[in-house]
Amino acid sequence: MQKPQPWTLLANIGQLLTLRAPSAKPGPRRRSDLKELGIIHDGAVLFVGNKIVSLGATKDARCDPWIRKRRKQIVEIDCAGKVVIPGLVDSHTHPVFLNPRLVDFEKRIAGASYEEIAAAGGGIGSSLESVRTAAKSALTEKVVAVLRDMAAHGTTTVEAKSGYGLTVASELKSLESIRDGASQWAGTVVPTLLGAHVVPKEFKGCSQKYVEIVCTEMIPRAARRKLAQFVDVFCDQGAFTAEEAEQVFVAARQHGFSVRAHMGQLSETKLAPFLRFDPASFDHMDHVSEDDIAQLRGRDTVATLVPGANHFLGLKDYPNARRLIDAGVPVALATDYNPGTSPTISMPMAMSLACTHMKMSPAEALAAATINGAWALGLGHRKGSIEPGKDADFAVFDVKDYREIPYWFGANHCALTVLNGVIESQN
Ligand SMILES: [Zn+2]
Repeated sequence: MQKPQPWTLLANIGQLLTLRAPSAKPGPRRRSDLKELGIIHDGAVLFVGNKIVSLGATKDARCDPWIRKRRKQIVEIDCAGKVVIPGLVDSHTHPVFLNPRLVDFEKRIAGASYEEIAAAGGGIGSSLESVRTAAKSALTEKVVAVLRDMAAHGTTTVEAKSGYGLTVASELKSLESIRDGASQWAGTVVPTLLGAHVVPKEFKGCSQKYVEIVCTEMIPRAARRKLAQFVDVFCDQGAFTAEEAEQVFVAARQHGFSVRAHMGQLSETKLAPFLRFDPASFDHMDHVSEDDIAQLRGRDTVATLVPGANHFLGLKDYPNARRLIDAGVPVALATDYNPGTSPTISMPMAMSLACTHMKMSPAEALAAATINGAWALGLGHRKGSIEPGKDADFAVFDVKDYREIPYWFGANHCALTVLNGVIESQN
């Protein structure tokens, strides 16, 4: 893997979206703060190693005596009027699987529902066998390929879940493949144990036994080996009940994990009982009550919306982002990259769907895909905005205006990515 450059100046940036904090209070962006992009026109950013040192107008950088004195040591990248944004933060992905689910894809097109596909042996359950029998190196190879593809689309920080093994050994193997994959990639990977993804078929009718294995074996062993930062649970019909999800959270907390959960994708689950665990994020949130939205107001638990899943499932309805944003709930966007319901690695695509189907403005979609994603991973102090002292994570888009990023859907206009100070050109 490449080493970060010593001193680098990105100059002649048409629009530099800093996303700098609009107020002194740290934390995820809410309401009208979500639209504050802190744009500098004809901007420049100086970074050394993996840290941002300073930023401002290009003409000020040119006459800065400190920069002038070190001209020879500084590598300059001419951005030629392109748009520079903080590296995109994909805070919800499932990259540890081997095969696409093409039969499910065809069945769904022919009219089968998510539940019908699962009942016919498709869905999450159908990815298990290949992951259980795969060599760790094969899984690692897949993870690395996906991370590289994500970086090519502007993503520099990725949350990566296990969850297609669902045995102690294969969940630990999946987490190891995330760790090994992350070590071959310059960006930042946040690993999550999703042992409670679905109840595997060998535990059909006795889900409690499986939950016990998750709580007493998977979680403690992942903790001991420091293989994950978060524990996640899929709480919904066809997956785990609210009581089971609480058990998983109790065990996770006991072993020092932060928690996050898939909530309200297919049906509503009351969120209030989970707030005592201080979840970093509730993800999906298609079905959520006014009462629960009121409970989330003012808290730092982020609502992570994944419109790629609604799109790929051909749903008419999308999560009600406006209701959440207007109520003061912090909203993030992620791809939910997975083989069954959202096979996309593109954050710009997720942003485009958020604009067209969830009525988020391009500015809100950008903040949700950067700074609020960072807060959803507990990394808001390091990632998600371009400010001195933060990590040197940038995506350079070959467009004149940031609104073009969600506008040109389905095309990749990312020209260059900087991951923890490491420059990767996409050309
Ligand atoms: Zn998911």
